[in-house]
Parts: sequence; structure tokens; C-alpha cells
Amino acid sequence: MLNRGRLTAAGLAIALGASLAACGSRPKTSGFTQKLVILGFDGMDPDLLKQWIDAGRLPTFKKLADGGGLYPLATTHSPESPTAWASFATGVNAGKHNIYDFLVRDTATYLPDLGMVRREPPKFLFNYIPTSKPKVHSIRGGTSFWVTAGQAGVRSSVLTVPVTFPPEEVPNGELLSGLPLPDIRGTMGTFYYFATDLSRYEEGNTEFGGVLKRLVMENDTARTELIGPPNPVVRQQLEKLRAKSPALTDEDRKQIAALEEKEDIRLPMIVRWDRAAKTAVVDINGESVALEPGKMSRWINLDFRINFFVRVHGMTQLLLMKADNELQLYISPVNWKPDNPPVAISHPSSFAGDLFRRLGPYRTLGWAEATWPLNEGRMDEETFMEDLYKAFDDRAQVILDRIDARQWDVLVGVIESTDRVQHMMWRLMDDRHPMYDAALAAKHGGAIETIYRRADQFVAEVLEHLEPGTDLLIVSDHGFHSWRKAVNLNTWLVQQGYMVIQGQQPGEKKLDDLFGGAEFWENVDWTKTRAYAMGLGQIYFNLRGREAKGIVSSGAEATSLADELAARLLTMQDPEDGSRIVRAVYKRDDVYSGEFLGNAAELQVGMEEGYRVSWQTALGGSPPGIVYPNMKKWSGDHGGYDFATTAGVLVSSKRINRNDPSIMDIAPTVLKYFGLSIPGTIDGKSLW
Ligand SMILES: [Zn+2]
Repeated sequence: MLNRGRLTAAGLAIALGASLAACGSRPKTSGFTQKLVILGFDGMDPDLLKQWIDAGRLPTFKKLADGGGLYPLATTHSPESPTAWASFATGVNAGKHNIYDFLVRDTATYLPDLGMVRREPPKFLFNYIPTSKPKVHSIRGGTSFWVTAGQAGVRSSVLTVPVTFPPEEVPNGELLSGLPLPDIRGTMGTFYYFATDLSRYEEGNTEFGGVLKRLVMENDTARTELIGPPNPVVRQQLEKLRAKSPALTDEDRKQIAALEEKEDIRLPMIVRWDRAAKTAVVDINGESVALEPGKMSRWINLDFRINFFVRVHGMTQLLLMKADNELQLYISPVNWKPDNPPVAISHPSSFAGDLFRRLGPYRTLGWAEATWPLNEGRMDEETFMEDLYKAFDDRAQVILDRIDARQWDVLVGVIESTDRVQHMMWRLMDDRHPMYDAALAAKHGGAIETIYRRADQFVAEVLEHLEPGTDLLIVSDHGFHSWRKAVNLNTWLVQQGYMVIQGQQPGEKKLDDLFGGAEFWENVDWTKTRAYAMGLGQIYFNLRGREAKGIVSSGAEATSLADELAARLLTMQDPEDGSRIVRAVYKRDDVYSGEFLGNAAELQVGMEEGYRVSWQTALGGSPPGIVYPNMKKWSGDHGGYDFATTAGVLVSSKRINRNDPSIMDIAPTVLKYFGLSIPGTIDGKSLW
């Protein structure tokens, strides 16, 4: 008889297995006596930090600021995490590292895609036998300082820094990937919400990556399923069939429809409700999970079977939100298992699993906080904050574990909960925000401050774990603003005649549409369109020879279009009160230089406090109206705001050599700190 378990495992190793290559062991010592720790708090805002230091609420930050210094840290164009952390790692501007925004567009099709990685699905022989692993390639250019320093013998530990997935080979170092490490569905975090009080109308995928499903109870038992990853075998078959178009036969069409039905791998799930006890038991993946309202379950392993040979392993947490008169069940995005991910998530590839064996399960999903369910109204503030603390703690414990391991000369660890809490809870700190709610504010108005205090406490903990003489830098990649009103930049471009659309405005775009097959720009007449907006504040010209249907000539025509558009954008007014909306417009050649300049948008729009590019503009849509109140809980932001007013933070354990540090200065500072020469291609300058 075949040993099925073993065969499956072997197949997995062929097809998807995290590289089993021997993990490089690092020297216990190096020739360096310097020790440097860099802590990152994504989105920590210099004004808020200063305000709470002055109020005596952040004693550790105060001590460090008094002893060394606290400075605004210039961010990048645009002021977004992927762009700024890429500049942090490489010391160069986006023109040299190629990460301009969270989205990129394909100049042949104008289609948007996530801007950090390129994905290649696995391949299967006869639609069955795995012949190649899935691959993920980073599109980031430049060289990280941990690689440059590593080549010179500096030992590093690099932990959950954004834009470190897929993991790089770090000489003499270890690296645990951060953003954009996806969930099992390949998204930024698909959450699941099952409820008895959900109408048929509400079922489906939400704007911000949730799967909502109605539970139909029979004798207090509901049979349902959890949607897992797309099946790459089915996708491969579908692609082959679709490629025949327009010569599709009726038989082909039937087959396509049948395949689409099973495109996603589904796990059967049974929800058993004990109404009297107000509890539930969920049967999934061979386990029975007993749930009490308000208590997050332990991590549950989920195995998705692609076929006889291949399985994909994930883990999730369940939360029974309500079980009295109705039942509501939340299931977290399915994280890749640290010890058995579909592709490597660390360097060496065994590192993530070693951490798992030592610390237990930890979130691998790059976007580790539950922003999407809160934004969609499927989670309350209380639960969101509890979960956010756990996300913070997950990363904090990894950083402390590696500090204590003492196998590094430089250690870099980034926590992003500071960013997420500001995105979601800003509205309760700003009584001018349309989503301000006095009752909620009374309870959660201090949420952001609480997380800054948690950060302060964590820094104190880190200091206790460090050997005397260790230097410390604390860095944030950008600041924050209130987002009270959303601006439809594309609609404005249409109104001003720069973009031409025909017919009806198509349906609203969803973030989830980025992950497969959706249509974008359906109604845009490219033969008459000169400029289009996508991402957070990027305006691209429809350039002849670059875009497939480009009509604007580079040179004089593009230059005058840039001048004209920039000037007009600055006159944009809020129809409600005449307020200025655009604070600055940056032209490509003024802010970027380098080998990837050709991928940059012609203009980068910098909004005033209170205004942000609408989600629909980010995805290329042009719904009616230019300015409208932001009625989402996602209420604070930074992307698309003016570079000049969106600086991050630098706290240094010793004085720096000037007053205008930039996030590009960190990499050269580290290189110089270890006595290494700074490559001429680096844009930043050493601060010490
Ligand atoms: Zn952010």
C-alpha cells in the first residue's frame, strides 16, 4: 500500500517546499566590536511623538531624545511604506530602487498590479505532476545595507522590514520577511465572516478583501466552507482554454465554467451552535474547535489539498463574535505556516521554522493587523485593538528573541501596528472628521496614544536587553494626517479634458480585484486620454511609445503638459468651502533619478491635510463627483499627502551631524558605522 502521507510530503517538497538547502551557519563572532540596533515603527508621526513626549507620556523616547536627538526624518516621493522602506534599506531614491507606490501599471494593458513583486505560479505536467515551484520575484532595485555590510563580514538580523519578501540572501545574516508576504490566498489578508444574520445580498467579497457568508442553520448546525487558495492546476487549465479565445467551442465554454467552479480550493466546515450555552463548535480540517464569544481561538492548522501530490499549509484563528440570538463568526486571514510555507519566507529558509519551534505560532502575514474587517464593519473597535496588541507582541517577541541570541552586529526590526492604528482610529482623535463619534471617542479616542506608549515600553524593554555601548536608531518611514475627504483625481482629469471616458461609469473596483481577472479602465478612451491617475497621487501621461495606446509625445509636449497640469492641480478647490486641496505637485525629473526613472509617474500630487486620493482613484476608477466625505473607518493616511508635511521620525542614541536627515541616510550611516566605504550610487549621507 502506498504511504500516502509520505508521498504527499515528497510531492510538496518538489512542488512548493520551502528550500531544504542547508542553512548557512553564521560565525558566533565577527571582527566588529560595534553593535547597532535599528527599530522601525511604521508611520510614527513626529508631531504626535513630540506632543506626547512633552506631556510626559513617553519617558523612554524622552530619555533617548535628551541623550541623543529627536528629528523629523524626510520621507520619500511618494510618502508610502513600500517606497520609504525600500529607500531605508538601499539608501537611494525610488528612481534607483523602482518602488514608487503600492501599485504599478502594465504599460501594455494599463492594468494595475501590486507594486513590490512579480509572481509566477507553479507548473504541473499533465495538469497533475508538479514540475516547478511557485516563484516570487522582487522588483526592488538597489542593494540593501545588510547585504553590502554582510559581504564585508558584518552579521545582521533583519526582522519583518517592509519590502523584504521574497527574502534576500543575506551574507552573514538572517532575515524574516515582512510586507508584502501574503496570506494563503495570495492577498494582503482575506478575512472571513460567517453569520446567520447576513442577507443573501451582503454575501460575497467585500471592497477590502473579506469573504462574507450566510450561515443557514438546520437543527443549529450549518454546513459551509472556507475558501482557500486558488488551485494552480485549475488555473493552468483555465489559462490554456482561455488562450484559445476567440476560437472557443461550446465544449470549451462548458469546461471553463466547470473549472471556474473549482478555481478556489475549499475546506468544508461545520458550525454547531449551542444556543443555550451561547457557544459554538467549529469542525474544520479534522479538528473540533470549541469557541466562546469574544475569545480568539488558538492557531488552527489548515491544509489545502491541490492534488494527490501537493498540499499548501496555513494557520488561522477563529473568533466567535456573537452566539445569542444570532451567530457571528470571524476567521482571520490564513497565514502561511512558518515551518512549512509555500515558498521561503526567511533567510536561511529554516530560520522562520526555527523561530516557530522556539516561540510557537506567530503571524507571518505581512499586513498583520485586522484593518479590513474593522473598515467593513465586521469587527468592532474593542476586538480590533485587542488583535492589534497581539500583532505588536508577535513582532516584539521575535525582535527580543533575536536580540538575546547575540549573533548580530546590526539588528533591524520593524513593527507596523503604529501605522495600522493610525489608519483606523484617527477619526476618534479628530472631532472634525466625518466619522468622529463622541461616544466611541470616549472609549477609544486614546487608541493611538496607547500604541505609542506600547512602543515606548517596548523600546525600554529592548534597552534592558542590550549590552552597554550598543547604539540605537529609531526610525519611522512617514508621518500621518487626518483623511476627512476623498478626492477623485481621475474624475477631475475627465472634467478638465485630460481623460476621456465613454458611456456609463463601470462598477466600483475592489482591492480584491487586483488578485485576479477583473477589468479596469473599461470605459476609458485611450486614443483621446492624455493623463491618468493610479495609486496614491501618481499621475501618468499616456505616452507614445511607452503606453500601448499612448498619444502624448515625450519632450516638449510632455513638458508643457506637466507644467499645465501641475499649475491647474494647484487651483483645485473644495466646492464646499473653497479650501485648497493640492498643496504641491512634484515633477518626475525634479524628485527622481536613476535607472528606473522610466517607470515613474510624470507627476506626484501632494495633498493638503484632510484630503486624500479616493480608493477608486487609486484603482483607476472615475466615479461621479470630485470631493466627498470619507465615511470609512480608515480615517488617517499618508500616501498621496505632500512629501514636505509627511516626514517620519528619527531618534538617535547619539547626536547626528545635521538637522535635515532623510530616510535615505540610514543605509550609509550603517555602512560608515562599520567602517565600510559608501558606494557612489547611494543618495543618502552618513548621519554620524
Ligand atoms: Zn500606512
